[in-house]
Amino acid sequence: MLFDRWRYMPTVNRFFRCNLKQFIARMNKKIKVFKFGGASIKDVDSVKNAAAILQGFKNDPLLIVVSAMGKSTDKLEKVVAAYAGKKGDAGKLFEGFKNWHYRVMSDLFDEKDSVFDEVNDLFVSVEWTLEEEPHVNYDFIYDQIVPVGELVASKIIASYLKITGLPVQWLDVRDVILTDDIYREGWVQWDETMANTMAKVHPILSKGGILMTQGFIGGTNENFTTTLGREGSDYTAAIFAYCLGAESMTIWKDVPGVLTADPRLFENVTKLDRLSYKEAIEMTYYGAKVIHPKTIKPLQNKSIPLYVKSFISPNEEGTFIGHEAEDTYPPMVAVEKNQALIHISTRDFSFVAEHHISYLFTKIAEFRLQVNLMQNTAISFAVCVNNIDNKIHQFAESIEKDFKVIIDSEGLELITVRHYMPQTLEMLRRGKIILVEERIRSTVQMVAKEVPRMERKS
Ligand code: ASP
Ligand code: MG
Repeated sequence: MLFDRWRYMPTVNRFFRCNLKQFIARMNKKIKVFKFGGASIKDVDSVKNAAAILQGFKNDPLLIVVSAMGKSTDKLEKVVAAYAGKKGDAGKLFEGFKNWHYRVMSDLFDEKDSVFDEVNDLFVSVEWTLEEEPHVNYDFIYDQIVPVGELVASKIIASYLKITGLPVQWLDVRDVILTDDIYREGWVQWDETMANTMAKVHPILSKGGILMTQGFIGGTNENFTTTLGREGSDYTAAIFAYCLGAESMTIWKDVPGVLTADPRLFENVTKLDRLSYKEAIEMTYYGAKVIHPKTIKPLQNKSIPLYVKSFISPNEEGTFIGHEAEDTYPPMVAVEKNQALIHISTRDFSFVAEHHISYLFTKIAEFRLQVNLMQNTAISFAVCVNNIDNKIHQFAESIEKDFKVIIDSEGLELITVRHYMPQTLEMLRRGKIILVEERIRSTVQMVAKEVPRMERKS
């Protein structure tokens, strides 16, 4: 019988469509997302070190996300405070930020390099803002000034990588990551961000390109700059990894990987070789500073492995975070400072029942407070929240008519222990006043006052 091509066409079509899908999946899979934080690019030598690490990935489709260099964000926050509060000399503080970058650049580049003009343009746009009367919304001002740290860093590193022979293209993240207009805490608009990534980022990477962009910042529909919250560059990298369906994401840090506790606070910490998404999200949410807590969800949702590796010893294994992981863990401790305990009680002695709790949570959401722990009795309710800016006082004022509110925020910290052992808890409690303690399965949380000197490094 003759080959009946019409009869077989659907099968052939299906075969090609299927293979095309596999092909696209393979291309996607190959994309790696790297994040270099402030400490990894804090001076001339560390920029050179980062460039040396990247040389090893020349042939991979790669998206590199960078934060501001060293402690630049802290410096820029001071500029904003001076400008908005009209206290101190914002211009002079900004001059300090500029000169620091010029010094780094003069060591990295020939004076005729076009990077000087590009960086200068970014500086000038901030200087123009500083000459204007400050906008009434502090958070808005913040987001129009602080992102210059990331913008300048990415220009400098991209230009330096080009000199070292890495064909990298610079990408303005504000053209891709769209957020709402809640300044300093922009929420990602996923559909638009996904569409932008597929239109503007994926085509370059799928041809094997290397892109460099900024962490921590996004843009609104009206083209204003927003930020995603301090230390948000990890989250930026995860947003891209998710939208690109990346093969993996790597965070390059100044520690060997994820540790059982913060080495600045505790002795005898050890590195974890493997960690599940669940452990990672639990610990980072409660203050383990190694990764931004929002990073895990996008990666978990697409089963993208996260590697936390040392930029000092890039050949060491670091920590792998993914689905499969150990089922037994050593005790892990996270300490979140700057906590406030808010005691709320009804003025008329009515029970704190569902309708009160639901009302209080609407208010908590309105002020975007992060609740870390809560407890209630017949007529009172206590919540432990992160004490950021003036938010808790504004929240207290807004409910004061119906509730009596007492705020305790002097030197409070939240200690979270997973997989605890009796001796771990004993050690942590020593010398401290424990205001609230809660246990759920393998987790213990304590709101504590006072830091014992004996167990901690001074
Ligand atoms: N540079 C910003 C900060 O220091 C963002 C980041 O580091 O991820 O908060
Ligand atoms: Mg930083």
